[in-house]
Amino acid sequence: NSSLHELDPDVAAAVDAELHRQQSTLEMIASENFAPVAVMEAQGSVLTNKYAEGYPGRRYYGGCEHVDVVEQIAIDRIKALFGAEAANVQPHSGAQANAAAMFALIKPGDTILGLNLAHGGHLTHGMKINFSGKLYNVVPYHVDEKTNLVDMDEVERLAKEHRPKLIVAGWSAYPRQLDFAAFRRIADEVGAYLMVDMAHFAGLVAAGLHPSPVPHAHVVTTTTHKTLGGPRGGVILSTQELAKKINSAVFPGQQGGPLEHVIAAKAVSFKVAASEEFKERQQRTLDGARILAERLVQPDVTEVGVSVLSGGTDVHLVLVDLRNSELDGQQAEDRLHEVGITVNRNAIPNDPRPPMVTSGLRIGTPALATRGFTAEDFREVADIIAEALKPSYDTDALKARVTALAEKHPLYPSL
Ligand code: PLP
Repeated sequence: NSSLHELDPDVAAAVDAELHRQQSTLEMIASENFAPVAVMEAQGSVLTNKYAEGYPGRRYYGGCEHVDVVEQIAIDRIKALFGAEAANVQPHSGAQANAAAMFALIKPGDTILGLNLAHGGHLTHGMKINFSGKLYNVVPYHVDEKTNLVDMDEVERLAKEHRPKLIVAGWSAYPRQLDFAAFRRIADEVGAYLMVDMAHFAGLVAAGLHPSPVPHAHVVTTTTHKTLGGPRGGVILSTQELAKKINSAVFPGQQGGPLEHVIAAKAVSFKVAASEEFKERQQRTLDGARILAERLVQPDVTEVGVSVLSGGTDVHLVLVDLRNSELDGQQAEDRLHEVGITVNRNAIPNDPRPPMVTSGLRIGTPALATRGFTAEDFREVADIIAEALKPSYDTDALKARVTALAEKHPLYPSL
């Protein structure tokens, strides 16, 4: 019963160093967030010891009376949060949720439509060497070359031409909202299922600050660790009609024992997501992204070739377009890292540079909003980023401004 520090100082030191990194830098990876201490407490609980194959009330193991309570709370809370008829909270990750949802709805060899990876889609939406690209006949749709918005005319044309069994709507790198009603109309026209992967924007939906896909889609998948702010994991929401198929696709179709400690942590995060504080946080997330986009289209940065894809944002992230900049995505990511801001380089549509280099940055505000950043703080962050992307910049001065912001909003002070 030794503590981590006693039993394994090597791992403990790396965990401590990671805590320090999170506390002392500005986390702006759009898919990341900071889970509340209570969420991590649930995830670090004795529930990690329990096997519970099956579902609440119908398990293949004894001793499940307490994990049944936990899993049912998680199911009930997320159904209420999104107004869904049915929920499966067992997927170990977003990718597992998508794999199970597809496994439930379609057969290998069937045709699916998904947003091209280089245009903002996710690996699981049909990338060649992902399971989705290997098992299904993938027809990718794209964003329009001029507007950088998803080209719904192309979606409709491809749907009519290829008659997919499933259309996937959702994204990992896209700064605007999708028209779920239009996707559903097209799906209905060709007899396809509509699956919406709301992993990125689920927190905004929960707060009522983004249209909900739930009334339009047959199935909605999500991760629980991005804007939703919970533990790493996945969830599948569906109609009651599809619930049985989804459940059997998750277990025994894709997974064995569920991670009940993670499900407990999910339940806690769903409680948080139903609160007024969460709604206010999501509003600051959106405000921060808008402030950042507005700063990065000012003349002092556009004249050095920096701009923002689609001219702005309606969500929690901004896609910075560096095609006309002397900096490529890798150099820009490194430069921000140097001043203490963590982002990821990201291919932009029709990127002239190779995927490991790219001509874009994806910058998100959820983690800083969780840390308590206000509009005023986001203006300062946006200005630091703008200055750092210029040819001449003062590393030490920018680093000091980052440190001041980090110290103004202490992260995990009790840890
Ligand atoms: N779906 C979308 C839209 C995502 O952006 C991601 C992760 O980045 C996933 C699914 C996969 O989630 P995970 O990393 O938990 O497998």
